[in-house]
Amino acid sequence: MSIESQTPATIAVWGGEEYPLAFGAAQVPIVQSAPFAYNDVDEWLDVALGRAKGHIYSRNTNPTVDVFEEKCRLLEGGEKAIAFASGMAAISNALFTFLRPGDRVVSVKDTYGGTSLVFLDFLPKMGVEVELVDTTDQAKIEEEIAKGCKIVYLETPTNPTLKLIDLKRSIEAAKKAGAISIVDNTFATPINQSPLALGADLVLHSATKYLGGHDDAMGGVLIGDKALVQEVYHYREICGAVLPAFSAYMLLRGMKTLDLRIKKQNDTGMAVARYLDAHPKVDVIYYPGLESHPGHEIAKAQMSGFGGMLSIAIKGGFDTLKRFMGELEYVHRAASLGSVNTLIGPPSVTSHVECTSEERAALGIPETLLRYSCGIEDEKDLIAQLDRGLASV
Ligand code: PLP
Repeated sequence: MSIESQTPATIAVWGGEEYPLAFGAAQVPIVQSAPFAYNDVDEWLDVALGRAKGHIYSRNTNPTVDVFEEKCRLLEGGEKAIAFASGMAAISNALFTFLRPGDRVVSVKDTYGGTSLVFLDFLPKMGVEVELVDTTDQAKIEEEIAKGCKIVYLETPTNPTLKLIDLKRSIEAAKKAGAISIVDNTFATPINQSPLALGADLVLHSATKYLGGHDDAMGGVLIGDKALVQEVYHYREICGAVLPAFSAYMLLRGMKTLDLRIKKQNDTGMAVARYLDAHPKVDVIYYPGLESHPGHEIAKAQMSGFGGMLSIAIKGGFDTLKRFMGELEYVHRAASLGSVNTLIGPPSVTSHVECTSEERAALGIPETLLRYSCGIEDEKDLIAQLDRGLASV
């Protein structure tokens, strides 16, 4: 049976691994070599011209990175995948490959902070027009797309306010306008959401987050239409934002448990959200699995799980938040998400540190908002800890 016919749990373990692996290894070896050597020049030439399988130089391809790309390709159900040094490298390389002066991009106001800066700082300097629409105004998103654009760039759920965009409708609008649709699927992961199956041209990830899942390696990946990915591959092989073989190995190791982790984090996310939603000291909670979340119906339609990310604002000021954060014992106070360890961080210190309070308020980010990324600890321990923390402030 082909690996494509297997479920994501099986693909996460076996996908992309062509046996026998070198030396009969049971796990993918780290091929830590910049160039690949040939005794026979004809053989070398065949590989260089793509007439035979093989590797020339790790800025082009690398055997360990190949396996990571293939596992991601299979999980997202795309035609081709390429890996990058980070999520931001995947995002910027994809945008820089396709955009030219005079082109127009339609996206939303709530993309990840780094992505927003590419839209606001870099692309305008290249003469690209950027239209960032209110993330929750689906009609406006479609209206702006219909005006014409080269790229429609979507991210759902968003970071850190967990807003939802209707992927099917936005992608259909992009198709009608002849635009390339790109979806950042970092928060949802291929276990909870499949943008390519909904018609997107390209899907990308910060593999640093859930794909790797252990906070020990940076990486990015772009998956989708073969011809489009090939264009971005050419940009990457020349400009050089490649994924190191060692990082590819770490990410591959993490991905073996992707399905297990995400299912556990979906359950924990729901349990923690229900607990916090009912707590009198919690002012605001953003979690797409709650019926009260404005994007709940969209989430139900396009996601198979609601994920392990939530944000809350507790009553009181920033000092109360600091004391609350200090009370939580088994969490990292750190600027990342999607790890086996629970991670917490206020957007005013992490993703949105460069915004003014007014700008944050306009994005629905109160000063006391705290992003909470559920790890794989026991949900009862996490809730007990939150309970103690909230009781003490
Ligand atoms: N996309 C999302 C949704 C993110 O949360 C992040 C980082 O937090 C990125 C992209 C950028 O990824 P990286 O930090 O791997 O460059």
